Amino acid sequence: MKFIFADSLDYVDPAFDFIADRSPAERQPYWDDAYPHEILGYAPYDGVLVSRGIVGDHRVKGKYTASQARRFRLVGARKFLRLDKPEFAHLEIFGDCGAFTYVQDERPPYTPAEMAEFYDECGFTHGASVDHIIFDFDAGLVGMAGGSAEARQRFDITLENAEGFLREARAMDADFTPLGVVQGWSPDSMADAARRLVAMGYDYLALGGMVPLKSPEIKLCLEAIRHAVPASTRLHILGFAKADDIDSFHGYDISSFDTTSPLIRAFKDAKQNYYLPGDGLALRYFTSIRVPQAIENPKLQRAVKKGMFRAEDLVRLEALALGALRAFDRDEAELEETLHHVLVYSAPLFEEKPHEDCKDSPTLARLAQRYRATLTERPWKQCSCKICRDAAIDVIIFRGSNRNKRRGIHNLAVYQDHIERLDLKRAVEPSDDLPRRLCAAEQ
Ligand SMILES: [Zn+2]
Repeated sequence: MKFIFADSLDYVDPAFDFIADRSPAERQPYWDDAYPHEILGYAPYDGVLVSRGIVGDHRVKGKYTASQARRFRLVGARKFLRLDKPEFAHLEIFGDCGAFTYVQDERPPYTPAEMAEFYDECGFTHGASVDHIIFDFDAGLVGMAGGSAEARQRFDITLENAEGFLREARAMDADFTPLGVVQGWSPDSMADAARRLVAMGYDYLALGGMVPLKSPEIKLCLEAIRHAVPASTRLHILGFAKADDIDSFHGYDISSFDTTSPLIRAFKDAKQNYYLPGDGLALRYFTSIRVPQAIENPKLQRAVKKGMFRAEDLVRLEALALGALRAFDRDEAELEETLHHVLVYSAPLFEEKPHEDCKDSPTLARLAQRYRATLTERPWKQCSCKICRDAAIDVIIFRGSNRNKRRGIHNLAVYQDHIERLDLKRAVEPSDDLPRRLCAAEQ
């Protein structure tokens, strides 16, 4: 099972100064910054996915600047992502259209010919056909029942595009492996799409529209699709938001999936921000400690504008919290004392009140409990990755892109290890069975 990381310019500044809290003045983002595989010294994934929608162009506003998008086209995906070194040669580069960026349009803005050319020109190893996301998923529908007029139209567009895309890829003798994207409004309609894609000639399918679905719904789709296609057909899950639940997807024979989840969770989850390997095949999660920049945090700034706090008081509380955390890391401060300084600064942030007015609030009590668990365990000291060794306690502090993305990159490393352990477990299972089967054969 391959773990493909969906990138959206997720790099950090290796020269970032945590104490001064800034990058060198001469820093040029992209050029000076490091991708996860550069800062860790190895790739914490089996490949990278780049969406056309993230690159962007005159029709779809992407995340790349115009000059970055030009460079991407000019030098190709591998060089742009700085994966053009021998040690990264085995990494796959998946491309898709980023259907979420044109979800409101009646039709996708790209033609199959244009996308095939884009993948080929930019040196992708795998390219997904031009799909159109279907909403209103209903797990209970049987056969081709249900599906709004719009869903059916998008279903037809996706299949038509897949047919054209495969034809174009073959005609240009493309170097990339084409993936036919499955869209549907129910498990059975997806299975029908999958069957038709295989009939067109695809042997690698990508399941689209999975982002809003819950794990049991995704499993129903996989089950229906697996029944409809040959065992040799490979399956990829596009935008797998349930990546932490991957161990429960054993048996569905997923070849690959892409996700940003381990990176994003570092700064978008309320509780589970820092990963460590857990007991057996599980992951353990820790809450990172929020110490935002007093003069940059929008919520704190609003509170200052409303006259609830003075900016200089917030800056003082912020410095006390950061100082206490660093002293704690050096064993020069007690846990409860450190926690107190953090919570005093958390009160304006979470409750918009001074700490003495809300210190018994349920929100602060929950926060205290989670922060106490993090500080007690000191998880950043339990990880030997380069990020945790270099950043120490700063990796667990929720503050600015350089700390938050570093924590996300650490999570990628832990997650990749997690996937490998799951795969190893799966590899062991059949051979465990072998002695019994040999015995049965002898009898
Ligand atoms: Zn680490």
